[in-house]
Amino acid sequence: MVQAKKALAKKTKTRKARAVSSARSNDYQNFIGGRWVSSRLGEILIRDKEKYTADMTREMGKVLKEAGGDVQEAIDCTYYTAGEGRRLHGFTTPAEMPNKFAMCVRQPVGLCGLITPWNFPMAIPSWKLIPALVCGNTVVIKPAEATPLSTYNLVRACEEAGIPPGVVNLVTGYGETVGAGITNHPALRLVSFTGSTDTGRVVASACAERNAICSLEMGGKNAIIVMDDADIDNAVEGAVWGAFGTSGQRCTASSRLVVHKKVYKQFAKKLVERTRALRVGNGADPKTEVGPVINEDAVHKIMSYIDIGEHEDAATLACGGQRLTKGDYAHGYFIEPTVFTDVAPHTRIAQEEIFGPVTSVIPANSLDEAIEITNGVRYGLSAAIYTQDVNRAFHAMEETYTGIFYVNSSTIGAEVHLPFGGTKGTGNGHREAGTQVLDMLSDLMIPISIDSI
Ligand code: NDP
Repeated sequence: MVQAKKALAKKTKTRKARAVSSARSNDYQNFIGGRWVSSRLGEILIRDKEKYTADMTREMGKVLKEAGGDVQEAIDCTYYTAGEGRRLHGFTTPAEMPNKFAMCVRQPVGLCGLITPWNFPMAIPSWKLIPALVCGNTVVIKPAEATPLSTYNLVRACEEAGIPPGVVNLVTGYGETVGAGITNHPALRLVSFTGSTDTGRVVASACAERNAICSLEMGGKNAIIVMDDADIDNAVEGAVWGAFGTSGQRCTASSRLVVHKKVYKQFAKKLVERTRALRVGNGADPKTEVGPVINEDAVHKIMSYIDIGEHEDAATLACGGQRLTKGDYAHGYFIEPTVFTDVAPHTRIAQEEIFGPVTSVIPANSLDEAIEITNGVRYGLSAAIYTQDVNRAFHAMEETYTGIFYVNSSTIGAEVHLPFGGTKGTGNGHREAGTQVLDMLSDLMIPISIDSI
């Protein structure tokens, strides 16, 4: 066993070294023209969308409709960001001296290490990879070991699109070995990481040690506020999809529902009815609404939180709470969509990221109390409010410390042209998507020329 581990570590080291050296020998000086290839990549992704979608559902269980959305996100990201290759704006500005001309241009950062999670196995890699290329960088990308296929499909499409060999380097292997090798590698100028907050801290420390640029997108504990003037049916619909879409395995999942006491009973009753009606099953069956969770470890983690909710936190288990093991469920990782009611805001199920089909309904007496509860966690990714009152909506938006805020819509639903990222334990100030991602993946250089005449 020890020998096998040593052999694996050696093999991993060789693979990683090869990937970095390949990216290095194709650094931005050679690749600058590569900015223009991305539209062709979009065409390939559209052509093979159905296959990639089926591969993803097979790989990680996401229902077909959502897997299609994941691939579509990569397509949208490609077309949107390809256009940025024609802009990549810098700026000119007056200079202090009359014979001086001042301007600022974007330069590639160099070699970038990209580390991604399994829950959006093509969308998240595309959000990092495509803008990195458009900025003229070369990359080493490491997907989660649970979902290498979808990222492999993306990288193969890059190859077919004409991106030169060695510019995009896929390396597989576990985070503790290959991931750590990337974060510690002196040749990599930038590490862009998406994953849990605990791993993000390790990545950040390693990057700080060698002064590498580090962007982090991490966990969430997102809340929907439901006010007493809300359209309750609409709010229930938003809560159900926010909490149980992708089986709750989204960084933006609506894992807390903070409901005004005046509509609390009505909301909770409708939510439980709607949740019980969800169809759990094989993601490849088009009728399935909630697929399995990723693996056995996830099942254990989620079931242990359900136990904590019932016993340690003394919340009311209003529906769900069981692992499904009979019949068609016997060979998968299926958990009933679960709703806890009467949850106290400071308890563990209301504070910690469960990353599964579990949500907590928390009562609040007023808008300000609901905002305080929303802000009272270590994370700050996404929040939402359901209300008919525009003043309440703006007040909540201003007072909530999150990267994303919705009105009368759930906490989920990123768009590629909008900056994406979180505050507090969720992020370290960088943003992905939009044009803002270009600030992370390029250096601004200020050449100043002085007229000699
Ligand atoms: P992990 O933190 O476990 O893993 C993320 C990636 O980091 C994987 O590729 C993993 O490799 C790798 N990794 C693990 N350990 C190290 C290490 N020591 N050094 C370098 N890399 C390492 O997260 P999950 O994959 O379980 O993803 C779920 C988490 O991601 C949730 O917390 C979720 O909220 C968050 N997330 C955040 C998003 C955001 O935009 N804010 C979006 C999506 C998810 P491997 O798994 O192969 O070992």
